[in-house]
Amino acid sequence: MVRGRGAARARSGHPWIYRSDVAEAAGEPGDVVPVFDRAGDFLGRAFYNPRSEISLRIAERRDEPVDESWFRTRIEHALAYRDSLAIDGDAYRLLHAEADGVPGLVVDRYGDNLVLQVGSAAVERRLDWVLGALDELLAPAGVLLRSDSGARKREGLDATVRVLWGEVPGTVVVREGPVRYEANLWRGQKTGGFLDQRENHLAAGRYARGRALDVFSYAGGFALHAARSAREVEVVDSSGPALETARHNAKLNGLDNLTFARTRAFDLLRERSDAGERYDTVVLDPPAFAKTKRDLPRARRAYKEINLRAMKLLSPGGILITCSCSYHLSREPFEETLRSAAADAGRTMRVREWRGQAADHPEVLTIPETRYLKCAILERAF
Ligand code: SAH
Repeated sequence: MVRGRGAARARSGHPWIYRSDVAEAAGEPGDVVPVFDRAGDFLGRAFYNPRSEISLRIAERRDEPVDESWFRTRIEHALAYRDSLAIDGDAYRLLHAEADGVPGLVVDRYGDNLVLQVGSAAVERRLDWVLGALDELLAPAGVLLRSDSGARKREGLDATVRVLWGEVPGTVVVREGPVRYEANLWRGQKTGGFLDQRENHLAAGRYARGRALDVFSYAGGFALHAARSAREVEVVDSSGPALETARHNAKLNGLDNLTFARTRAFDLLRERSDAGERYDTVVLDPPAFAKTKRDLPRARRAYKEINLRAMKLLSPGGILITCSCSYHLSREPFEETLRSAAADAGRTMRVREWRGQAADHPEVLTIPETRYLKCAILERAF
């Protein structure tokens, strides 16, 4: 039974009910339980985990059983939606947790392999059903469980990376539009690649030209696309292994116009802008600077600093592709930060496009947490 605040939130279309909003509950972690408000009105069936801050995650709003066929239907819907997107590539998200109606389950496709992330005790307990449906519908060569994220600790689940089905190679080569890249499914960031940036990578391929700089490049996500239309691309990251993969990926695509610099982004941007260097294309895709609300003031200063430097580096007509994946810094304050960077840099920046995460990572209107990635494409007007 949930308190008024929790019930109102559930009625607003949000699936999460916090522990402090639960008035009375019975069950084991991982149970699927019916949820009622204080008046006894049914709110839905939820994944229950008393150990988690989010004790209830509503999975079904109708009074229907959450059984094996429920899981299968949800997975079928998720796959049908991806089919409708006609994605040009073979690495993308097949199921995006709450946004596809299965709280705490993420399924990513890398060619013939699937990588699962499970952040809910209820899904963990029903993994056999999930695997059965995925096998029947997709017949994957291998399925890897990549459950090593911080979110699992908060749910009281152990960190684990293990094969659930078939054989999963250390690395696989996948395709993203015209580009091929190697993904390390076992140890790479996220599940092996930044799939949420897929459409923005393709956009970078359309905008990039001349002398280009890809800062926070990881394995060259933006750089590989940019290098197809730009004269040269400098790839910058502080991680040696990431740059090694980027170098390998450049070869894989037969590209010889990339150079690689292992260095701290802030230092490089400051040095280059102080030296009066000029670029026609700059990409900024930093890690989330604001992991919590408390980080916001510091994060905004950091976003402003890198964007100000990048704007100074642009030649007239140059393009800046600038991203933020911090959920806590929503579009408006990010835009305000960019505005203030442009003012201080003394640059007139024309807005070419505001973009978000790729369509295979859908946003649900009533779940603000499903909208996290911002990507602005700006042009130095003159
Ligand atoms: N642009 C990539 C994803 C970037 S993830 C893509 O689209 O695929 C963020 C990257 O920033 C990571 O590879 C991390 O190693 C790097 N990074 C984090 N802090 C950094 C810093 N201070 N300087 C340079 N790189 C940094």
